Amino acid sequence: MTSATRVLVLNSGSSSVKYQLLDMRDGSRLAVGLVERIGESTSRLVHTPAGGGRRERTAPMAGHEAALRAVAAELTADGLGLDSPDLAAIGHRVVHGGLRFTEPTVVTDEVLAEVERLVPVAPLHNPANIVGIRTARALRPDLPQVAVFDTAFHTTMPEHAARYAIDTETADAHRIRRYGFHGTSHAYVSRETARLLGRDPSEVNVIVLHLGNGASASAVAGGRCVDTSMGLTPLEGLVMGTRSGDVDPAVTFHLRRVAGMSVDEIDELLNKRSGLVGLCGDNDMREIRRRIDEGDERARLAFDIYVHRLKKYVGAYYAVLGRVDAVAFTAGVGENAAPVREAALEGLEQLGLAVDPELNAVRSGEPRLISPAGARVAVAVVPTDEELEIARQTYSLVNN
Ligand code: AMP
Repeated sequence: MTSATRVLVLNSGSSSVKYQLLDMRDGSRLAVGLVERIGESTSRLVHTPAGGGRRERTAPMAGHEAALRAVAAELTADGLGLDSPDLAAIGHRVVHGGLRFTEPTVVTDEVLAEVERLVPVAPLHNPANIVGIRTARALRPDLPQVAVFDTAFHTTMPEHAARYAIDTETADAHRIRRYGFHGTSHAYVSRETARLLGRDPSEVNVIVLHLGNGASASAVAGGRCVDTSMGLTPLEGLVMGTRSGDVDPAVTFHLRRVAGMSVDEIDELLNKRSGLVGLCGDNDMREIRRRIDEGDERARLAFDIYVHRLKKYVGAYYAVLGRVDAVAFTAGVGENAAPVREAALEGLEQLGLAVDPELNAVRSGEPRLISPAGARVAVAVVPTDEELEIARQTYSLVNN
C-alpha cells in the first residue's frame, strides 16, 4: 500500500508527449498538458493546472528528455513536482504489448526489452513509448513506472477471431495475427456502459464503437473482448480519419506492381492519405457535415462510405455476440456526431436497434442513452477517458 495518491499518465508519441496528473482519491485532474514538435526548433508546451491559467511556451526541445524536464518544471511551479512524495507512480500508454502483456505491468529492464522486441510489429508507436518510459525512469528511478498496453484488453479474443487465414508457419514465425488496439478505451467504455444500464459488466454484451481520428469496433461479451476490428496494426477495420481500414490485400500488390509505388509509399498512402481525408480531403467530421449541408457530393460520399463500413461491423458483431444488450458510441466522432450515430443504426430496427432523434440531439459530456424507451437493445453515448483508465490500472497495480 502507498499513501501517495497521485498518478502521472504519459502518452509519448514520436514527436509529442501528452500528460495528465490525476488525484486518485476522486479521479480529478491536477494538471493536463502536452508538448508537441519535439526535436524541432519550435517545440511547444501547453500546460493547464486544475484551477485554470493555461501556460504556453515555445522553446527548442531536442528530445523526449528535454520535453519531460520541461513538463516536470511546469508541475514543480504548481507545487506538483515529480519529486513529491504524493506521486505514487507514472503510468505509460504503450501501444503494442503483443501476446505477452495481458495486464498492466510494472516496468523492469526485462519488460522494456520485451517491449523493444515488439518494435517490428509496431514500428510507428512502440519506439516513442519506449523513449518516454526510459526518460521517466531516468528522472525518477525509484518510482514505479507502469506500462498499460493498448492491446491488453483484446488478448482474450479467441484464436478463431485473432488468426488470419494465412499459412500458419509463416504467421507464427513473424507473429502475424490480429492484436487490436484502443483496448484501454474499449475496456473503460464497455464497463461504463454496464454501469449506465445498472448491471454488472459480466452480465452484458456490448458493441463498442470507438470513433475518433483512429476508429475501431469491438464485441465485448460479459466484460471480455471476443472480437475487434483493428488487426496486426491499427490499419484494419473501420474507415478512419486518414486510414483506409479494410481493403483487399491485393490492392497493395497492385499499387506496387502496376502503380510502381514503393512499400513505404503504399504504407503512407493507406495510413495517412486514405480514409475520410483520402475520400474527400477532410478528416474532421464537423467539416464534412458542413460541406454536406452545402451540397458537396464528395463529402456526402465519404460520409456514406464511413457509415456503410460502420454498419457492417455492427451487424458482424451482433452475429458474433448472438445477444446484444448495448451499442456504445465513443471518442470524438462517436460522442459528438449525432448524424453518424443515426445513420449507422438506420434500418436496423429488426435487430432491436434504434436511435431516438431527440435524445440523439442532446449534447452532453455525460454517459447517456439515446435509444427509445423500451428498446430491446440500449444505444448509448459513453465518453471515453483513456487517461483515467490508465491511471486507475496503474494505481491499482502499485497500491496492492
Ligand atoms: P479523437 O481522436 O477521439 O480526439 O477524435 C477526433 C475527431 O473527432 C475529429 O477529427 C473530428 O472528426 C471528430 N469530432 C470532434 N468534435 C466533433 C464534433 N463536435 N462533431 C463532429 N465530429 C467531431
